[in-house]
Amino acid sequence: MGYYAVEDLRKSVRGPVLCPGEPGYDETRTIPNAMIDRRPAMIARCAGAADVIACVRFAREHNLLTSIRGGGHSVAGKSVCDDGLMIDLSAMKGIRVDPARRTARAQTGLTLGEFDRETQAFGLATTLGTVSKTGISGLTLGAGWGHLHGKYGLALDNLLSLDVVTADGRLLTASVSENEDLFWGLRGSGGNLGVVTSLEYRLHEVGPVLGGAVCYPTDKAKDLMHFFRDWADRIPDELVIQCASLSLPDAGRLFAIAACYHGELSQGEKVLRPLRNFGNPVVDLFAPISYVQMQSMFDPFFPPGRLTYVKSNFVHSLSDEAIDTFAAFVGKSPSPYSFAPGLEHWHGAATRVGVADTAFPHRRHSYNFMVWSNWESPSDSEENIQWTRDCWSAMKPFLISSTYGNYASDEGEAIAREAYGCNYDRLAALKNKYDPTNFFRMNHNIKPEMNREKRADLGAVQAETL
Ligand SMILES: Cc1cc2nc3c(=O)[nH]c(=O)nc-3n(C[C@H](O)[C@H](O)[C@H](O)COP(=O)(O)OP(=O)(O)OC[C@H]3O[C@@H](n4cnc5c(N)ncnc54)[C@H](O)[C@@H]3O)c2cc1C
Repeated sequence: MGYYAVEDLRKSVRGPVLCPGEPGYDETRTIPNAMIDRRPAMIARCAGAADVIACVRFAREHNLLTSIRGGGHSVAGKSVCDDGLMIDLSAMKGIRVDPARRTARAQTGLTLGEFDRETQAFGLATTLGTVSKTGISGLTLGAGWGHLHGKYGLALDNLLSLDVVTADGRLLTASVSENEDLFWGLRGSGGNLGVVTSLEYRLHEVGPVLGGAVCYPTDKAKDLMHFFRDWADRIPDELVIQCASLSLPDAGRLFAIAACYHGELSQGEKVLRPLRNFGNPVVDLFAPISYVQMQSMFDPFFPPGRLTYVKSNFVHSLSDEAIDTFAAFVGKSPSPYSFAPGLEHWHGAATRVGVADTAFPHRRHSYNFMVWSNWESPSDSEENIQWTRDCWSAMKPFLISSTYGNYASDEGEAIAREAYGCNYDRLAALKNKYDPTNFFRMNHNIKPEMNREKRADLGAVQAETL
């Protein structure tokens, strides 16, 4: 990219444009997963929607590969591209909470922790994820499973409207009454349909929660998994549970069941009693805590700069055999920093939404299985990746091909089919309408359906990227 072109972009945006070698460039292209080391030709640190519009128009004019960075937490590293233009939204942190209407309009550079802090000032919150440094935008556009999903649905189920810059450089609003098809598609298709510049959420009253975890020796994993499966079928919407093999600094390898109860705390004590009375936990961390504390409980396990590789699919049956297989891998990951293997329980309001009501189709599965491996040195990559694949392969007979796209490492085209499932074809038609040249393709990519004439019109360079 020539000097004059870069200067043109600089003149048309309010935020800084960073090129290789310039101060801030390396810091901005670096994302938490150290497996990803890409070098964009330029990074635009957008200050608002007008900058995003200018970037999209510039990238189109110069035929540049474009990536969009929200919070940078995609394990597949889709927020950073090589050579092209990285549209960095992480400086766009405006938020306005309307306590009377119980809504929040938030710009898409906010992290979960920043968003929760502002809404909790009014005793309000909505479903987001479980690690506070994650970006609200990538998480919400992909789904957003978190501590309130049983009662209030996934993050995307709480969206009222979105502002989005589409591939032709227009800013559109999508809601139930405006651009309804786009509203449907944006709720579940990641960054496939445009750059979302702000999100409007429905909020709920959320006071202190009863949150924490019980941890057991790893050889108790099998018994615990049986308990977990039977208990999970009976828990109320107010409770969200998950379990994983992990390590604590002073206690070594453990098997943990974590939970968050949102509701009347005395009732929460009763609901959690069967778990806390089961077996002899070596650690019981349950206590009434603020929602903001709950939302950062897992942060110490995920510092930036570790290498991460994830395999994950929904479970079709958590049979006794599946539990045996799962338990055989507990405490065995090569790295003590891994959260693997693990299971998230999906239930309640999130699973009462129809598979085609939003673009996110995974509404009927009770468990999401994850092998979330983290390690510190590149020299350990081969061993950790192989172990992740071995663990996942052993569990494969009990899994379905459906994948939660937000947890997917970069496994090529098959992942997009698995992530969008029965909604893929409808999304491909939308892609055709809003992004026929596949301008937005640094994501789990939905290919536009394209006829021959249109392909010829585009010319060789753009068409070969489809
Ligand atoms: C430590 C950790 C914990 C996690 N915990 C949870 C959890 O509890 N629940 C859960 O559901 N998920 C969780 N996730 C997964 C998380 O939802 C995804 O990684 C998500 O993509 C993160 O969003 P981001 O904005 O930080 O990521 P980014 O990497 O910035 O973006 C992810 C994708 O979305 C696109 N994108 C981002 N912002 C926009 C935008 N404004 N407009 C258009 N496209 C955009 C990007 O281009 C990219 O393709 C976790 C991930 C990590 C690493």
